[in-house]
Amino acid sequence: MKNLSEATEFAQKLIIKKSVTPNDDGAINILKQKLSKIGFNNIDLPFGSKKNDDLILNLFSINKSKKLNSNTLCFAGHTDVVPEGDSKKWKFDPFLGKVSNGKLHGRGASDMKGAIAAWVMACNNILKKNKLNISLALLITGDEEGVATNGTIKVVQYLKQKKIKISHCIVGEPTNPNYIGEMIKVGRRGSLSFSIETVGKYGHVAYPHLAKNPVTSLIHICNRLNKIKLNLKAKNFPQTNLEVTSIDTGNPTSNVIPNSCKALINIRYNTCYSERLLLKKIKAYFSEVPCTVKLKVISSNKPFYTDSDKFLSLLKKSIYKVTKKNPTLSTTGGTSDARYIKDICPVYEFGSVGKTMHQINENINIKDLENLQKIYEDLILSYDRIYG
Ligand SMILES: [Zn+2]
Repeated sequence: MKNLSEATEFAQKLIIKKSVTPNDDGAINILKQKLSKIGFNNIDLPFGSKKNDDLILNLFSINKSKKLNSNTLCFAGHTDVVPEGDSKKWKFDPFLGKVSNGKLHGRGASDMKGAIAAWVMACNNILKKNKLNISLALLITGDEEGVATNGTIKVVQYLKQKKIKISHCIVGEPTNPNYIGEMIKVGRRGSLSFSIETVGKYGHVAYPHLAKNPVTSLIHICNRLNKIKLNLKAKNFPQTNLEVTSIDTGNPTSNVIPNSCKALINIRYNTCYSERLLLKKIKAYFSEVPCTVKLKVISSNKPFYTDSDKFLSLLKKSIYKVTKKNPTLSTTGGTSDARYIKDICPVYEFGSVGKTMHQINENINIKDLENLQKIYEDLILSYDRIYG
């Protein structure tokens, strides 16, 4: 068998650590050991506490250039993974890092221990042979797949407090749907989750004039919401969409009009909209129904978009050089930690192929992993030429 590449071997070491969110299982330590060998300074950033059972290990690691006030190129990612599900359904043990048929198998191979290994080995190779005028950094969290309250958001706060500057950041999420070089994420849609509750009056269905049916009111509002026009277009953003995901009264009987009824709704929206604007549009329908209507925001994440700058063209060039592909710029998919990093520097996302992420038999093509390392190496060198 062909010798495994350094990136593959390192990704294996990370996969073996069962870092199912929020557990770390030594994954960050593996990273720290390797990074200090390459010449990085590790800063442990644990947040939360053992007592509250929400302790999360995070890491900021930096290889400082000798040049004063040098620009810093940072890679951001997470070592935590989603649970493996039914491990009997896996072809290979999800925490073994088995290599078979040109693929590295295991939970986190694609999302995103593979990309972390590619970045670390890219730094290793470059620093062995070159003196850089830029600083290289890693921002790694153990809390991305979970509630994400003690992860990147807190590390970013720490960096701001300590006045540690990052000039540009690349997040190693698996952005490519099918093949490496297919897609860069340049922002993300906003996500607004809320509930609408209509409150009426209990009653017997045979005497509707004595009751007030909250279901009828809620159906009316939901119908209106389904037809709401949210067609303002923003560049590189998909259409804004609203989905009613649940309507529930908790009423088990068919001859009683319930007192209240609740719907859950989520809107994924582009930069033409804001939480305020959306809620105003929605609340305008409430006066059309006889019931009292209550709206409660469950969660709200603003959309963001990173305007193209020189760094993006460097990334595109490096991708083309290695893969001969011109990546699409996109903002599709769910949210990512880039939403916190965008507050301190321009951020783009580019990592492995995401086809198997979060699935049974998650894997990464070894060729893709090697190409990803080459892309990162080329990016570091061209960044040094332009920003060094
Ligand atoms: Zn991820």
